[in-house]
Amino acid sequence: MDAVTHDLVILGSGPGGYVAAIRAAQLGLNVACVEEVPALGGTCLRIGCIPSKALLESSERFHETKTALAAHGVKVAGVELDLPTMLQRKDQVVTDLTRGVGMLFKKNKVTRYEGHGRIVGPGRVVVAGADGANVAELAAKHIVIATGSKPAGLKGVEFDGDRIGSSTDALAYADVPKHLVVIGAGYIGLELGSVWLRLGAKVTVLEYLDRILPGMDSELATEAKRLFERQGMTFLLGRRVTGAKVEKKEVVVESEGAEPLRCDRVLLAVGRVPNTDDLGLDAVGLKTDERGRIPVDDHYSTSAAGVYAIGDVIGGAMLAHKAEEEGIACVERIATGYGHVNYGAIPGIVYTHPEIASVGRTEEELQKAGIAYRKGTFFFRANGRAKALGDVDGRVKILADETTDRILGVHILGPRAGDLIAEAAVAIEFGASAEDLARSCHAHPTLAEAVKEAALAVGGRVIHA
Ligand code: FAD
Ligand code: AMP
Repeated sequence: MDAVTHDLVILGSGPGGYVAAIRAAQLGLNVACVEEVPALGGTCLRIGCIPSKALLESSERFHETKTALAAHGVKVAGVELDLPTMLQRKDQVVTDLTRGVGMLFKKNKVTRYEGHGRIVGPGRVVVAGADGANVAELAAKHIVIATGSKPAGLKGVEFDGDRIGSSTDALAYADVPKHLVVIGAGYIGLELGSVWLRLGAKVTVLEYLDRILPGMDSELATEAKRLFERQGMTFLLGRRVTGAKVEKKEVVVESEGAEPLRCDRVLLAVGRVPNTDDLGLDAVGLKTDERGRIPVDDHYSTSAAGVYAIGDVIGGAMLAHKAEEEGIACVERIATGYGHVNYGAIPGIVYTHPEIASVGRTEEELQKAGIAYRKGTFFFRANGRAKALGDVDGRVKILADETTDRILGVHILGPRAGDLIAEAAVAIEFGASAEDLARSCHAHPTLAEAVKEAALAVGGRVIHA
């Protein structure tokens, strides 16, 4: 089989890989993208961000219709869950978006290869079909590894493809669990735990640490935990799970120093690990680090000439938009010599209700680094739009440098926090001060006024509190 030559071969079509492919094609490169599953879009579109948000939306509407509409003077009766339709809708959203990536590839003349890509030497990739037979041999000056991540396992907890599963299983339970035990209080566990709680499951979250959402602002994480508890979620913190096994129709979950818990389903959500299965790293002398990640320099070059890596398979936050930014910076550097990602301005969002969103540094990080800061807080209960929505829990917190007033971190717990954080990310990207934000006109009545008020609060001149 003769090798087909491209300028650039990208392994993986997740948000890192497919966005890099499109940007590289825009810059005039002849680009190929190899993807081993039939649908494009990676974890994010198929089994991550998109299906989880579709279910969060549907389950929230179900729950709200049952519990919150009466307060608006809307009487509803006979509200019933039609889970198969809810799951089908989620699948349709996924299908539409993954097909959309295929259309974008056609429009941008990105060549798609379906099969498992493996590096077989410098500038050489072999694509194998599901039967293991080679579909294509590719030659390229540049290879970008964007093979993403997969759910982390836990010793003693065996996925059985049914009762003990990962986030992928929890996106498709055929019926509502009676009692769902979630292992790990990170964003994936809390989002999917919220979905099934709203649909009627009892949900118990077991977390090793003494807090939820490690890495997020602890003041907001504490408040969020209280709000989730009010919704009916149970948290058992300081619980290190050591095993889970199926016993007849039940699952028994064991943790250190505590009685075993019995439930009917377990969602293991203790993080994700880079995916480098059978990737042929040896063929170009590459080794992963102690956490299975591919080491790269500031420009996403690995130690092998012409081989780059981006997204979940390298270090840093495992987020779709982080993978996209890296994909763009990586190929722009290949094509133009320039490319950069500002890691200080990458937002992180938890799509629970209320949402939790964060960009820049947390208070704990500033304290640890000995950076003097001023803090402005504004509560949604004093915001007119939040009142009108009937969604008043939470706050906006802005941290600014004590001397220069430059915004260092913004943390929001509240309605549409995930949309509100965009303004803060732009402010940090532009090096804005809290005063810049405070002096910018924000339309009334909007949730965004809470951001302005928090910025005013940094300077001690909040109006509505
Ligand atoms: P991936 O999206 O994992 O894509 C890698 C692709 O490579 C896959 O399609 C895989 O099939 C393919 N592949 C692997 N090996 C090979 C090979 N050898 N040959 C060919 N193809 C290969 N992030 C957010 O920012 N926001 C969210 O709301 C969010 N929600 C999430 C919810 C869940 C339940 C999960 C699991 C994740 C969520 N994430 C979210 C994380 C996000 O999905 C990942 O950070 C993102 O998908 C990483 O992108 P990537 O391109 O690096 O890799
Ligand atoms: P994340 O990495 O954000 O997906 O979060 C995973 C969460 O799982 C973290 O909060 C971890 O502390 C937690 N975790 C990891 N191992 C265990 C364990 N054995 N038992 C309970 N929680 C765990």
